[in-house]
Amino acid sequence: MNFHISTSNRIELVDITREVLFEVGKSGVDDGIAMVYVPHATATLLINENERGLVSDITGAITRLIDWDRAYEHDRIDDNAASHITSALLGCSLTLPVTGGQLVRGTWQNIFLVELDGPRRRRVVVKVIGE
Ligand code: ZN
Repeated sequence: MNFHISTSNRIELVDITREVLFEVGKSGVDDGIAMVYVPHATATLLINENERGLVSDITGAITRLIDWDRAYEHDRIDDNAASHITSALLGCSLTLPVTGGQLVRGTWQNIFLVELDGPRRRRVVVKVIGE
């Protein structure tokens, strides 16, 4: 099960909670685990609150994790080493419990795709395992 998201900026957080909830519901799994995965080397996922100021703060913090202006070796063949490195540091999958057919998450926990080399069209894979 997967869906696609089109991003608009080089670095951007896109709330994909609704799409993930839809995939979990479609799975028919009542009790189990949902794995959300991005099959990309320059995108990642995170869970946090979807509040405009905080989303901007997280986007800013992501750009400060490493030095984006440094001349990396990978930039000689493909000018996006900082995107790859940041993605490598943040990981590309999330695992969440499913109970009573619902994703278990806190009130302020939304699921975000983190674009690190946009704009691009991204694929998100949702695998739900259980009974
Ligand atoms: Zn690259």
